[in-house]
Amino acid sequence: MTSTDDRPDTAAHTSGDLETALARWREALGPEHVITDDESLADFADPYAPASFGYRAKVVVQPGSVEDVQAVVRIASETGVPIWTSSQGRNYGYGGSAPLDPDTVVVNLRRMNRVLEINEELAYVVVEPGVSFRELYDAVQASGKKLWVDVPDLSWGSVVGNTLEHGNGFTLYYDHAAAECGMEVVLADGSVVRTGTGAMSGSKTWHLSKRGFGPRTDSLFMQSNMGIVTKMGVWVMPQPDAYKDCQIKVRRDSDLEALVEAFRPFLVDGTVGNCPILFPALTALPNGLPRSAVWDKKSSVPRELAEGMMWEAARIGAWNIRFALYGDRQTVERDFERISAAFASIPDAEVTGNTIDPAEAKLDSPALADQKSRVMAGVPDLSMLQVLNWHGTNGGHISFASTVPLKGEDVRNIVELVSTREAEHGIDYTVGIMLYQRFAIHVALMLYNVGNEPQVKEVYELYRDLVVEAAEMGYGEYRAHPAFMDLVAEQFDHNDHSHMAMVEKIKDALDPAGILAPGKQGIWPARLRTAEKQAK
Ligand SMILES: Cc1cc2nc3c(=O)[nH]c(=O)nc-3n(C[C@H](O)[C@H](O)[C@H](O)COP(=O)(O)OP(=O)(O)OC[C@H]3O[C@@H](n4cnc5c(N)ncnc54)[C@H](O)[C@@H]3O)c2cc1C
Repeated sequence: MTSTDDRPDTAAHTSGDLETALARWREALGPEHVITDDESLADFADPYAPASFGYRAKVVVQPGSVEDVQAVVRIASETGVPIWTSSQGRNYGYGGSAPLDPDTVVVNLRRMNRVLEINEELAYVVVEPGVSFRELYDAVQASGKKLWVDVPDLSWGSVVGNTLEHGNGFTLYYDHAAAECGMEVVLADGSVVRTGTGAMSGSKTWHLSKRGFGPRTDSLFMQSNMGIVTKMGVWVMPQPDAYKDCQIKVRRDSDLEALVEAFRPFLVDGTVGNCPILFPALTALPNGLPRSAVWDKKSSVPRELAEGMMWEAARIGAWNIRFALYGDRQTVERDFERISAAFASIPDAEVTGNTIDPAEAKLDSPALADQKSRVMAGVPDLSMLQVLNWHGTNGGHISFASTVPLKGEDVRNIVELVSTREAEHGIDYTVGIMLYQRFAIHVALMLYNVGNEPQVKEVYELYRDLVVEAAEMGYGEYRAHPAFMDLVAEQFDHNDHSHMAMVEKIKDALDPAGILAPGKQGIWPARLRTAEKQAK
């Protein structure tokens, strides 16, 4: 265990009767679905943390049905053994499938992998938690229905897990939590609830209307430890009439603020409806290029070097935005002209666009020029994984992901904070800034070599400092590795942490024994809370 994580004394967590739980889970699920051998467990560890950090489950159980999930939860409650859920378990950069405490048993839902419905007329799908983005894409393609599935940069993760983590993709339905409509959830007592209008037996609008009668509770099960989601409705995008893959480049770093200011109105008024990505020259280096091909010093790659090199070699700007326009062909072209005109006052700025036949939005289509062109058309891809080769074949990263207002000044603030602090530690500034409608998520990849433990520890230490420094500027993290969940949660401190106090009351009511994912998002069950707070 590192000195940099948030885990308490594990003895506090292991009060349950694991031997009895294992015997009962084997009986309920079949022995082959209770995994305890090292080789199989490796797939459920955090691949980007050195083994000595301990982000690795000792036991994984894999239920295959809702009834199995109910049995798993009831046995956990009765034996007092805590459990931690993952769907595909590919939450890489944020801990993978690994629980906060290695003695917490992972409940992995990969076996529940059915696409239950694909509805073209009303443009939604219903999936079980194990369905990956790639599997959903394949199912939609096989159905022949003209729908686009929104995919993140890597398509091997699960639609449900990614959505519950507040993940994002790059089409009009990029905000996955916002595209969710109607869940089924198993609670800590083993009961099953349906959210939204699904709470009414025989409801015909479960996956159409997000609100039922009374409070909307879906968010309670996102980034939380209140239940296990076993089904989810997700809105998807009808295949558009036209798709234009667009790019804006500015040559100089000093044009960053002007770039953001000129682009913002098109996001706020909805002209640009997808999730554009803003990135510097260094991030635009080809995926898979090793650091040694660019810079042979221990110090971080100077931002100016990448800027000069990329403009000369490939006309890549100091800052670049990739975005997409979709819809009626004439409207798309007219919007593109309007957007282009807005950048005329920035010297050397270039706006380019490539109109692509949406019917070409297919795997291996030559019409889709690169990774971004594919994911903005909802086409699955894994090529971005190669970015991890930056420090050699054993590459890893943690994502430092802060939310800032969509204003030039704030984007500059977070860029300077992170790049300056990273440079002090010889960490290269590789970042993708996701542009939502009114805010941006600055995702610094913080790349390292997993085999270089001192380097990883230094990155973890810097991450901790950055969480506090960003919060002092008013910028919170949108997502975090379990090692940092307490620290991130602590920054949300208005009125003596009254929001967390409210969430803890809900946790105690829904999970009185405190068996669901203790400590996830900084939410501790009552039985561990006092010890946690005293330890700080
Ligand atoms: C190079 C790279 C690029 C990436 N790009 C993106 C990107 O573009 N967008 C993005 O969002 N992410 C991105 N990621 C992060 C991550 O890979 C994805 O978000 C991935 O989809 C998460 O894995 P998963 O879907 O399998 O979720 P899981 O690991 O299955 O789940 C994530 C978390 O959600 C909770 N959870 C999961 N299932 C349930 C359930 N059924 N009930 C209750 N709680 C549950 C658990 O806390 C779990 O830890 C990237 C990672 C890398 C390495």
